[in-house]
Amino acid sequence: AMIEIKSRSEVESMRRASGVVAEILVELVEMVRPGLTTAALDAAAEARIARLGAKPAFKNYRVGDSIFPAVLCTSVNEEIVHGIPSGRTLAEGDIIGLDFGVIYEGYYADSAVTVPVGRIDPRSERLIATTRRCLDAAIEQLRPGRRIGDVGAVVQAIAEAEGYGVVRDFVGHGIGRALHEDPQVPNFGIAGRGRSLKPGMVLAVEPMINEGTPAVRVLSDGWTAVTADGKRSAHFEHTVAITEDGPWVLTSAN
Ligand code: MG
Ligand code: MG
Repeated sequence: AMIEIKSRSEVESMRRASGVVAEILVELVEMVRPGLTTAALDAAAEARIARLGAKPAFKNYRVGDSIFPAVLCTSVNEEIVHGIPSGRTLAEGDIIGLDFGVIYEGYYADSAVTVPVGRIDPRSERLIATTRRCLDAAIEQLRPGRRIGDVGAVVQAIAEAEGYGVVRDFVGHGIGRALHEDPQVPNFGIAGRGRSLKPGMVLAVEPMINEGTPAVRVLSDGWTAVTADGKRSAHFEHTVAITEDGPWVLTSAN
């Protein structure tokens, strides 16, 4: 399908939507500590969205018969993405992925981070740092003349060099007036292949990297994706506009 090209003023609206996401994510990250429930993070996000005049992107999002019940995805340890906030209490040594989106001025923005709960072991630190590095490398590819395959190839190379598994079942995406637009942006692939990137494209790039197997299982809640081997997973995401001058990270906090 066609990849939408956004005008400068549309990208600026998306930057404002992204600013809301970034601001709230920073606040949520500051809240994370042992003893907090994931539902408390969701409640804080929902209250802030309302105060900033935005609307949640994920609440009531529907896939088939499943309706997502929260404004925030909270994915702990072996949970990869789409974890549902609950009465679960965070424990020292956990890692938690916070995936968050809003609609503002008619445009979507989408971003995710994975952070430690208190002190974490060196293995988890390395997983988080590597996934962050995968995101940074993916963003570097978001330039006119590069291709979708270039993005996946760099992510896959970095992750697999560390012995990690790259999730295949979920991918990044175009974003704009819809949360998920064309093209899909896989975190694996072959450099030089796929659609050409052009100024005005806005993509949500989001490596999901597993300590072990890339294989995924979805829990009976219809949403929570976990690693098939029970090992940990990390996830980072930014909404990024491609400009003549290179990537513009719309959801960066500054
Ligand atoms: Mg997201
Ligand atoms: Mg996304």
